Amino acid sequence: MMNSLSVVPTQQEATGSNVDLIAKYSTQGPRYTSYPTALQFSDQFTTANYEQYLDAARIDSAPLSLYVHIPFCRRLCYYCGCNKIVTKKSGVGREYLDHIAIEIDLLSKHIGNTRHVSQLHFGGGTPTYLDDAELTELIHLLASHFNFDDNQEREYSIEIDPRTVTPDRLALLRGLGFNRLSFGIQDTDPQVQKAINRVQRTEQIIELVGAARAYRFSSISFDLIYGLPLQTYESLNKTLDDVIALLPDRISLYHYAHMPTRFAPQRAIERQTLPDSYEKLAMLRIANERLIAAGYIYIGMDHFVRPDDELARSQKDGHLQRNFQGYSTSLAPDVLGIGVSAISSIGDCYAQNSKDIADYYSKLEAGQLPVDKGLTKTKEDQIRAYVIMELACNLRVSTQIFDNKFNIPFWEKFADTQPKLAEMQRDGLVIIDQEDISITEQGRMMLRNVCMVFDQYLSDQTERYSQTV
Ligand code: SF4
Repeated sequence: MMNSLSVVPTQQEATGSNVDLIAKYSTQGPRYTSYPTALQFSDQFTTANYEQYLDAARIDSAPLSLYVHIPFCRRLCYYCGCNKIVTKKSGVGREYLDHIAIEIDLLSKHIGNTRHVSQLHFGGGTPTYLDDAELTELIHLLASHFNFDDNQEREYSIEIDPRTVTPDRLALLRGLGFNRLSFGIQDTDPQVQKAINRVQRTEQIIELVGAARAYRFSSISFDLIYGLPLQTYESLNKTLDDVIALLPDRISLYHYAHMPTRFAPQRAIERQTLPDSYEKLAMLRIANERLIAAGYIYIGMDHFVRPDDELARSQKDGHLQRNFQGYSTSLAPDVLGIGVSAISSIGDCYAQNSKDIADYYSKLEAGQLPVDKGLTKTKEDQIRAYVIMELACNLRVSTQIFDNKFNIPFWEKFADTQPKLAEMQRDGLVIIDQEDISITEQGRMMLRNVCMVFDQYLSDQTERYSQTV
């Protein structure tokens, strides 16, 4: 429970007229960055299986997306639930690059180097943990094994921890070919930052955003979190003031899920410093209203974008996609994951590298791709993935297109979903008519709940996911 609220909305003011609805649909569920989700990956899926998919993908002419995971961080953020290694030991970047070089070489031998790399993303951990020479070397390694795209439309992005970057480093990143930056902001209040062990001055963020614009990065995104320790309505409003003043192109607003038994770093956060669920709903409503009033569009699944952003345009045109990095335009259907714990999506398979760095290193030293688990999507998975991704990305699924695509009448296939969908229609989340199921404005907030209706794996695993609203 917070103890420093100055202007306390009533419960009705806090959550709006749909308070009962939000309470009704507030449950735990996947973010659907894939379907089936990573919880279904199995160690029955082997390196040999993955190699077959890579070999088959070699002749595909569609563009390719590369994801590179850099797991290291210098300090531990207490809210962290990511796969990372906190260390200040010198030489870890060098050792990691030496192994990634083996992985890149093995991957390119299978998938070849002809497909255009239209999307590249460096994520972590902290990609900017690597120094300038190491980042340059990594880009050189990738560019010499894959077919980097020089098209202006390409999307080459990197996650930025503002504490590890100067304007000069941004100039280097631009020179290396990155044209998109994603800043981890979380909250700009000094007390909240102290409580999560992530102190970064707002002036520094302002300076970096100014430099990013001067160096002509074409897109800037911010990550924010609500529900953090010591966060108040006032501090959240101040964070939103700071963020809106900088006008990032995209904003991800995540809910902090306190699961200390699952994520050890969260044990450093005292439960009584956290907002309660009513206060978190109020925060969500405040943030939604303020961002919409500032001109952003809520495209769903925690993401706000400016109306002229490609994601908004892709959604309008019905071409938005979702992958492990969140929403994406439909530039590249296959994602090649590189680095410890990275996940690939190639053809009908998902493959995840070992999450254990020692295991990741030893497999590579043995000349083997470091796959730990994965799956091949069954026909049933493909059908359900299509419906879930259409709803999650384009906010509608056409029953007629489905019938033609899979040669099965939609309502015959999903007869068992009708009572739940009818209830959602009565609650104003979806509209069902002859041609499609579409998500309403109100339903965007409960988008995960609608997708969950079509997920056949949920029953015994909901407690492993984060809160849907
Ligand atoms: S939140 Fe990000 S920067 Fe912080 S410890 Fe986790 S991975 Fe590292």
